[in-house]
Amino acid sequence: MVKVSHNEIREVDNLLVQVYGDKRWQKHAEPIDELVLTVLSQHTNDVNRDRAFKKLKHRFHSWEQVLSAPIRSIASAIKPAGLSNQKAPRIKAALKKISEFNGGKLSLDFLAEMPLEEAMNWLKNLPGVGPKTAGCVLLFSFGKPVFPVDTHIFRISKRLGWIDEKVTEAQANDLLDKLVPNEIKYRLHLNMIAHGRKICKPQKPLCENCVLKHLCRYFQQKLS
Ligand code: SF4
Repeated sequence: MVKVSHNEIREVDNLLVQVYGDKRWQKHAEPIDELVLTVLSQHTNDVNRDRAFKKLKHRFHSWEQVLSAPIRSIASAIKPAGLSNQKAPRIKAALKKISEFNGGKLSLDFLAEMPLEEAMNWLKNLPGVGPKTAGCVLLFSFGKPVFPVDTHIFRISKRLGWIDEKVTEAQANDLLDKLVPNEIKYRLHLNMIAHGRKICKPQKPLCENCVLKHLCRYFQQKLS
Protein backbone atom coordinates (compact mmCIF):
# COMPACT_ATOMS: atom_id res chain seq x y z
CA MET A 1 0.00 0.00 0.00
CA VAL A 2 2.90 2.37 0.76
CA LYS A 3 5.97 2.53 -1.45
CA VAL A 4 8.22 5.25 -0.17
CA SER A 5 11.17 5.49 2.19
CA HIS A 6 11.85 8.11 4.83
CA ASN A 7 14.83 9.24 2.74
CA GLU A 8 12.67 9.87 -0.31
CA ILE A 9 10.16 11.85 1.75
CA ARG A 10 13.03 13.94 3.11
CA GLU A 11 14.34 14.50 -0.41
CA VAL A 12 10.93 15.73 -1.58
CA ASP A 13 10.74 17.98 1.48
CA ASN A 14 14.18 19.48 0.73
CA LEU A 15 13.33 20.10 -2.91
CA LEU A 16 10.04 21.79 -2.03
CA VAL A 17 11.75 23.96 0.60
CA GLN A 18 14.04 25.27 -2.14
CA VAL A 19 10.98 26.35 -4.13
CA TYR A 20 8.44 27.36 -1.50
CA GLY A 21 10.67 28.13 1.46
CA ASP A 22 11.07 26.81 4.98
CA LYS A 23 8.04 27.11 7.24
CA ARG A 24 8.09 27.44 11.01
CA TRP A 25 4.92 26.63 12.90
CA GLN A 26 2.72 29.53 13.81
CA LYS A 27 -0.79 29.35 15.14
CA HIS A 28 -3.27 29.74 12.29
CA ALA A 29 -6.51 30.15 14.20
CA GLU A 30 -8.19 29.39 17.51
CA PRO A 31 -9.04 25.66 17.69
CA ILE A 32 -12.82 26.00 17.28
CA ASP A 33 -12.31 28.48 14.43
CA GLU A 34 -9.96 25.98 12.77
CA LEU A 35 -12.46 23.17 13.29
CA VAL A 36 -15.32 25.12 11.73
CA LEU A 37 -13.10 26.37 8.90
CA THR A 38 -12.08 22.83 8.05
CA VAL A 39 -15.67 21.57 8.14
CA LEU A 40 -16.63 24.45 5.82
CA SER A 41 -13.75 23.61 3.46
CA GLN A 42 -15.14 20.14 2.70
CA HIS A 43 -15.99 19.86 -1.02
CA THR A 44 -15.31 23.51 -1.79
CA ASN A 45 -12.43 25.87 -2.47
CA ASP A 46 -10.65 28.26 -0.08
CA VAL A 47 -12.40 31.35 -1.42
CA ASN A 48 -15.89 29.97 -0.77
CA ARG A 49 -14.81 28.55 2.59
CA ASP A 50 -13.49 31.95 3.69
CA ARG A 51 -16.61 33.79 2.48
CA ALA A 52 -18.83 31.41 4.45
CA PHE A 53 -16.69 31.69 7.58
CA LYS A 54 -16.69 35.48 7.39
CA LYS A 55 -20.47 35.57 7.02
CA LEU A 56 -20.90 33.18 9.93
CA LYS A 57 -18.67 35.29 12.20
CA HIS A 58 -20.44 38.43 11.07
CA ARG A 59 -23.92 37.10 11.79
CA PHE A 60 -23.06 35.48 15.13
CA HIS A 61 -20.69 37.15 17.52
CA SER A 62 -19.69 34.05 19.48
CA TRP A 63 -19.72 30.28 19.17
CA GLU A 64 -22.28 30.29 22.01
CA GLN A 65 -24.62 32.21 19.72
CA VAL A 66 -24.06 29.73 16.91
CA LEU A 67 -24.81 26.88 19.28
CA SER A 68 -28.15 28.36 20.29
CA ALA A 69 -29.14 29.46 16.75
CA PRO A 70 -31.61 27.53 14.58
CA ILE A 71 -29.88 25.30 12.03
CA ARG A 72 -31.55 27.18 9.16
CA SER A 73 -29.89 30.45 10.28
CA ILE A 74 -26.48 28.78 10.42
CA ALA A 75 -27.10 27.17 7.02
CA SER A 76 -28.07 30.50 5.53
CA ALA A 77 -24.87 32.15 6.83
CA ILE A 78 -22.57 29.43 5.49
CA LYS A 79 -24.29 29.07 2.12
CA PRO A 80 -21.22 30.23 0.10
CA ALA A 81 -19.39 27.05 1.19
CA GLY A 82 -22.03 24.77 -0.35
CA LEU A 83 -23.69 21.71 1.25
CA SER A 84 -24.90 24.12 3.93
CA ASN A 85 -27.76 21.84 4.95
CA GLN A 86 -25.23 19.17 5.84
CA LYS A 87 -22.53 21.39 7.26
CA ALA A 88 -24.79 23.50 9.51
CA PRO A 89 -26.12 20.59 11.63
CA ARG A 90 -22.59 19.17 11.85
CA ILE A 91 -21.21 22.45 13.15
CA LYS A 92 -24.00 22.82 15.67
CA ALA A 93 -23.70 19.19 16.85
CA ALA A 94 -19.91 19.54 17.19
CA LEU A 95 -20.32 22.70 19.29
CA LYS A 96 -22.89 20.91 21.47
CA LYS A 97 -20.51 18.02 22.13
CA ILE A 98 -17.64 20.36 22.97
CA SER A 99 -19.86 22.30 25.36
CA GLU A 100 -21.17 19.13 27.04
CA PHE A 101 -17.65 17.72 27.48
CA ASN A 102 -16.39 20.99 28.91
CA GLY A 103 -19.13 21.70 31.43
CA GLY A 104 -20.76 24.34 29.20
CA LYS A 105 -17.54 26.02 28.07
CA LEU A 106 -16.96 26.28 24.34
CA SER A 107 -13.25 25.66 24.15
CA LEU A 108 -10.92 22.98 22.79
CA ASP A 109 -7.95 24.10 24.87
CA PHE A 110 -8.05 20.85 26.85
CA LEU A 111 -6.69 19.07 23.75
CA ALA A 112 -3.29 20.70 24.31
CA GLU A 113 -2.68 18.44 27.31
CA MET A 114 -4.17 15.28 25.83
CA PRO A 115 -1.90 12.59 24.34
CA LEU A 116 -1.90 12.95 20.57
CA GLU A 117 -3.75 9.76 19.69
CA GLU A 118 -6.41 10.45 22.30
CA ALA A 119 -6.86 14.00 21.00
CA MET A 120 -7.20 12.69 17.42
CA ASN A 121 -9.82 10.16 18.50
CA TRP A 122 -11.70 12.73 20.57
CA LEU A 123 -11.97 15.06 17.56
CA LYS A 124 -12.83 12.24 15.15
CA ASN A 125 -15.80 11.39 17.36
CA LEU A 126 -17.33 14.78 16.63
CA PRO A 127 -20.02 14.76 13.92
CA GLY A 128 -18.63 15.36 10.44
CA VAL A 129 -15.02 15.31 11.62
CA GLY A 130 -12.70 12.90 9.83
CA PRO A 131 -8.93 12.41 10.10
CA LYS A 132 -8.13 15.42 7.90
CA THR A 133 -10.22 17.87 9.94
CA ALA A 134 -8.95 16.47 13.24
CA GLY A 135 -5.39 16.62 11.95
CA CYS A 136 -5.75 20.22 10.78
CA VAL A 137 -7.01 21.35 14.19
CA LEU A 138 -4.14 19.64 16.00
CA LEU A 139 -1.47 20.74 13.52
CA PHE A 140 -2.52 24.35 12.92
CA SER A 141 -3.94 25.35 16.30
CA PHE A 142 -1.73 23.31 18.62
CA GLY A 143 1.43 22.63 16.60
CA LYS A 144 1.09 18.87 17.19
CA PRO A 145 2.99 16.57 14.82
CA VAL A 146 0.20 15.40 12.52
CA PHE A 147 0.19 15.14 8.73
CA PRO A 148 -3.35 15.81 7.44
CA VAL A 149 -3.88 14.69 3.86
CA ASP A 150 -5.94 17.12 1.80
CA THR A 151 -6.91 16.75 -1.84
CA HIS A 152 -3.58 18.18 -3.14
CA ILE A 153 -1.41 15.99 -0.91
CA PHE A 154 -3.52 12.96 -1.78
CA ARG A 155 -3.12 13.57 -5.53
CA ILE A 156 0.62 14.28 -5.38
CA SER A 157 1.28 11.27 -3.14
CA LYS A 158 -0.42 9.02 -5.68
CA ARG A 159 1.39 10.54 -8.63
CA LEU A 160 4.75 10.24 -6.90
CA GLY A 161 3.91 6.59 -6.24
CA TRP A 162 3.96 6.94 -2.44
CA ILE A 163 0.59 5.23 -2.11
CA ASP A 164 -1.39 2.81 -4.26
CA GLU A 165 -4.23 3.98 -6.47
CA LYS A 166 -6.69 2.03 -4.31
CA VAL A 167 -5.79 3.82 -1.07
CA THR A 168 -8.59 6.12 0.15
CA GLU A 169 -8.02 9.63 1.49
CA ALA A 170 -8.85 8.46 5.03
CA GLN A 171 -6.34 5.59 4.78
CA ALA A 172 -3.74 7.96 3.33
CA ASN A 173 -4.01 10.11 6.46
CA ASP A 174 -3.01 7.18 8.67
CA LEU A 175 -0.37 5.78 6.33
CA LEU A 176 1.44 9.03 5.60
CA ASP A 177 1.19 10.27 9.17
CA LYS A 178 3.28 7.26 10.22
CA LEU A 179 5.84 7.81 7.46
CA VAL A 180 6.46 11.55 7.45
CA PRO A 181 9.04 12.51 10.10
CA ASN A 182 7.49 14.66 12.85
CA GLU A 183 9.82 17.61 12.45
CA ILE A 184 8.86 18.17 8.80
CA LYS A 185 5.11 17.50 8.99
CA TYR A 186 3.99 21.12 9.18
CA ARG A 187 6.33 22.37 6.47
CA LEU A 188 5.78 19.46 4.09
CA HIS A 189 2.00 19.74 4.47
CA LEU A 190 2.05 23.42 3.48
CA ASN A 191 4.60 23.01 0.71
CA MET A 192 2.84 20.06 -0.91
CA ILE A 193 -0.38 22.08 -0.98
CA ALA A 194 1.49 25.00 -2.58
CA HIS A 195 2.96 22.59 -5.14
CA GLY A 196 -0.46 21.10 -5.88
CA ARG A 197 -1.93 24.53 -6.53
CA LYS A 198 0.91 25.82 -8.66
CA ILE A 199 2.53 22.89 -10.47
CA CYS A 200 0.99 19.48 -9.78
CA LYS A 201 -2.50 20.64 -10.72
CA PRO A 202 -5.43 18.22 -10.88
CA GLN A 203 -5.71 18.61 -14.65
CA LYS A 204 -2.58 18.94 -16.77
CA PRO A 205 0.20 19.01 -14.17
CA LEU A 206 3.14 21.17 -15.25
CA CYS A 207 5.64 18.31 -15.05
CA GLU A 208 8.33 20.01 -17.12
CA ASN A 209 8.61 22.71 -14.45
CA CYS A 210 8.48 20.30 -11.51
CA VAL A 211 11.47 19.77 -9.22
CA LEU A 212 10.12 16.34 -8.28
CA LYS A 213 9.92 14.81 -11.74
CA HIS A 214 12.95 12.52 -11.30
CA LEU A 215 11.14 10.99 -8.30
CA CYS A 216 7.70 10.82 -9.86
CA ARG A 217 6.05 7.61 -11.06
CA TYR A 218 3.41 9.50 -13.05
CA PHE A 219 6.11 11.40 -14.94
CA GLN A 220 8.17 8.25 -15.63
CA GLN A 221 5.04 6.56 -17.00
CA LYS A 222 4.35 9.53 -19.25
CA LEU A 223 7.87 9.21 -20.70
CA SER A 224 7.66 5.48 -21.34
S1 SF4 B 1 6.29 15.41 -12.15
FE1 SF4 B 1 4.23 16.08 -12.68
S2 SF4 B 1 2.85 14.61 -11.74
FE2 SF4 B 1 4.85 14.35 -10.80
S3 SF4 B 1 4.78 15.60 -8.96
FE3 SF4 B 1 5.65 16.86 -10.58
S4 SF4 B 1 3.91 17.95 -11.50
FE4 SF4 B 1 3.10 16.26 -10.28
